[in-house]
Amino acid sequence: MLEKIDILSLSLTELEDIIVSLGEKKFRAKQIFQWLHLKKVFNFDEMTDISVQLRSRLKEKFCINRLFVQKRLESSIDNTVKYLYRLSDGCFVETVLMEYSYGYSICVSTQVGCKMGCRFCASAIAGFVRDLEPSEILMQIYETEKSSGIRVSGVVLMGIGEPLDNFDSVMRFLELLSDKNGNNLSLRHVSLSTCGLVPMIYRLAEKKLQLTLSVSLHSADNDKRSEIMPVNRTYNITSLIEACRSYIEKTGRRITFEYAVIDGVNSSEKDADRLSDLLRGINCHVNLIPVNRVRERSYRTAKNGVSAFAARLSERGINATVRRTLGSDIEAACGQLRRDAAEKYSENDMNGGADT
Ligand code: SAH
Repeated sequence: MLEKIDILSLSLTELEDIIVSLGEKKFRAKQIFQWLHLKKVFNFDEMTDISVQLRSRLKEKFCINRLFVQKRLESSIDNTVKYLYRLSDGCFVETVLMEYSYGYSICVSTQVGCKMGCRFCASAIAGFVRDLEPSEILMQIYETEKSSGIRVSGVVLMGIGEPLDNFDSVMRFLELLSDKNGNNLSLRHVSLSTCGLVPMIYRLAEKKLQLTLSVSLHSADNDKRSEIMPVNRTYNITSLIEACRSYIEKTGRRITFEYAVIDGVNSSEKDADRLSDLLRGINCHVNLIPVNRVRERSYRTAKNGVSAFAARLSERGINATVRRTLGSDIEAACGQLRRDAAEKYSENDMNGGADT
């Protein structure tokens, strides 16, 4: 039997081509696209302006890959909600919904696991399994919106995985997310975070997207950065900063540098001075992150460490903010839930489906 086509990963143009090849009128594709991406209807039988015959042909040809909530944790401190979603093949990914004064922002995963091996990150611990399809990235948003009744106004690609290591799927995801005929979210409200895959930063720059690029820097010293982020052994700080400068020039967009302040690793005054020297003159912003504790690791943020670091940067003319800690009571650090789930849910559970 032919495998069914994952309809939620198709662009409108691709869907039009298939619909026309079935002998149907082209405008039917736009109707179906709107059911999926605008009305968020994930059942062909509910697409009431499509004939019963066409609906049954659609069911034969296409599948709509739903995600299932395996676990849902709600913070009692700040309304942050963390979802552990189960994919159709039994893999798990994490999604976090966060409330801000201006609306809701969602943090999505782009891969099942991660190959990058950053020492402080829980995603690295459970290992890499596979890339996510565009539909699987998108459905983390649609399913969360559907079940919570909330319309998301910002998206950050900062969940499990390295977005630029799954480049084509992430690009298609962004195209679908912002399509005027469907979900229509401006890419100005999207941030993409990378550990620094230099060639992919150049590729992304060519696309001239309106999104905000966040670069996880975490140290301005090559030896230290290589120790905590193995990717630095392949693409060192000089080549990364060169790529960032070129990105800013090509896109006209400011870059955010992420810096988790880790006690005894990168938190000294000298580290702050080195960082400010590195970034001087670059159109950027530094986002300081208190380290999320990861059970298997001893990294922690020093008391007052982040504010002292921020003060030193601003003394030296570098624009820095401290990220608010959200969901601290629900293990909202990347990868912690999936790692636990990999241990906890047996094959049977995954196939038998406890959907709540
Ligand atoms: N792979 C991408 C995106 C996923 S990680 C990247 O590396 O940017 C999202 C952000 O969370 C990155 O800045 C990452 O360095 C940071 N992060 C990971 N684990 C963390 C932890 N335990 N504490 C604080 N920040 C962490």
